[in-house]
Amino acid sequence: MNQQKHFDIISIGGGSGGIATAIRAASHGATCAVIENKTLGGTCVNVGCVPKKVMWFASQVAETLDIAKDYGFDCKTLGFDWKTLVTHREQYITRINHWYHSYLEKNNVAHIQGFASFVDNHTIQVDDTIYTADHIVIATGGLPLIPDVPGAELGIDSDGFFALEKQPKKVAVIGAGYIAVELAGVLHGLGSDTTLMVRKDSPLRNFDPLLTQTLVDYINTQQGLTLLTHHIPCKLTQSSNDNSITIHCENGEIVSGFDCVIWAIGRKPHTEQLKLQQTEIIVDEQGYIPSDKYQNTNISGIYSLGDVCGKAPLTPVAVAAGRRLANRLFTEDKTAHIDYQNIPTVVFSHPPIGTVGLTEPEAKKQYGKMKVYQSQFNPMFTAITQKSQPTAMKLITVGEEETIVGCHIIGMGADEILQGFAVAIKMGATKQDFDNTIAIHPTSAEELVTMK
Ligand code: FAD
Ligand code: NDP
Repeated sequence: MNQQKHFDIISIGGGSGGIATAIRAASHGATCAVIENKTLGGTCVNVGCVPKKVMWFASQVAETLDIAKDYGFDCKTLGFDWKTLVTHREQYITRINHWYHSYLEKNNVAHIQGFASFVDNHTIQVDDTIYTADHIVIATGGLPLIPDVPGAELGIDSDGFFALEKQPKKVAVIGAGYIAVELAGVLHGLGSDTTLMVRKDSPLRNFDPLLTQTLVDYINTQQGLTLLTHHIPCKLTQSSNDNSITIHCENGEIVSGFDCVIWAIGRKPHTEQLKLQQTEIIVDEQGYIPSDKYQNTNISGIYSLGDVCGKAPLTPVAVAAGRRLANRLFTEDKTAHIDYQNIPTVVFSHPPIGTVGLTEPEAKKQYGKMKVYQSQFNPMFTAITQKSQPTAMKLITVGEEETIVGCHIIGMGADEILQGFAVAIKMGATKQDFDNTIAIHPTSAEELVTMK
């Protein structure tokens, strides 16, 4: 065993949360290390937000080309080359990976390559070196879930999607959350014959009903993506003739002919290599490492944040939690912590969804009485084209002051519109504050300050 090395703080996991914690701690003068077994940047950079957004942009380009003729452009697309797109995407990601290396170096954060495992509550081992720290942050993220059904291994997960060298011709995406909706939308947009298979009555069931309904109506009536509801896969088989995959469902239905099946049914905490059994760190029944609002686990000096703690698995949440933890540990701000209320989030669907605060059913449960403002329209961009995309918006207000507790948008631009409104809502904006704001015309966003 090599000699012991000690740091003020060690992040286990070089993803969004681990890096943010270490960089912020270093800026306060702490000695820091990040331990990463794969590639710096974690899920978001390598197999999550970043490559997904590139693919989403590609499908936006395809959509725009599709309606360009209505804007007078006589353009013929001679084809779409998956390989070119993937090559450019991966070159971009490699640039980000390199940037992360120099970012850590410049900020005097040590990068330790390898799997970290606990030897005891306060000691970590990577290969044959022992590390200790005053503070250890577990930010090991999550991994895709694969169901326990026969033939499940014939399908791939979201990591497998990003490894695809060829565009699938006929693909089934199984699941009903962010990833399923986003990947199915991208594949359909890029021309794959795509089926989105959900086990209940709709995808995105936990979102505001206006968003879900608008998306489902669009999928069913205009988009052309096949949506199969109430289909629970119980077996996958492969044809020996053409290698195509068949999905057998619990309702007796058999859906066949796929050259690609993607599981997108949720994620699990990534804790396998940590050897938590050698510690007294508590994990919950799903394997997450719970932490309190200050990211403290049950063991003093050990913290968990990001996807591995099982709350709001989003990159900016992991980053914010890490930065606040570092501020709390290394500055006078001893109460710094993340507020999990009113976290804005976007689903990069077609059209995109932006949402912050309570859904209507949640607001009803929490407040009983509320006033809801709603608007649905055809955005100007598709007002002159044969193919249109819906836009729908909802504001949920409570109390005499009409404080806004929920803002839900589906439609072109929703992904960019939401951030500013989220600031206002976080500050406690009322409907009157929205009404007092002069609209920007002509935009979709102006609807939010003119709703009656
Ligand atoms: P991660 O980024 O997963 O980092 C954890 C790191 O720890 C990994 O690099 C892993 O290799 C490493 N690790 C694990 N165990 C060990 C060990 N024992 N030793 C050393 N290293 C270890 N969020 C958004 O906000 N917007 C999006 O658009 C978005 N899109 C997404 C799309 C997809 C397909 C996926 C899968 C996720 C997406 N997310 C998105 C979620 C986002 O990626 C995560 O919330 C975020 O990456 C979590 O950061 P983290 O630091 O907790 O974990
Ligand atoms: P989600 O938790 O969002 O959705 C998974 C859904 O799949 C479940 O809610 C469930 O929906 C359905 N499901 C679960 N088990 C099965 C099963 N056995 N068969 C069929 N369907 C099943 O997980 P994702 O993997 O989509 O994403 C993980 C997280 O990553 C997200 O919650 C999000 O926080 C983050 N993310 C964020 C993105 C963004 O910000 N744009 C993009 C991608 C991911 P139901 O109960 O309705 O069947």
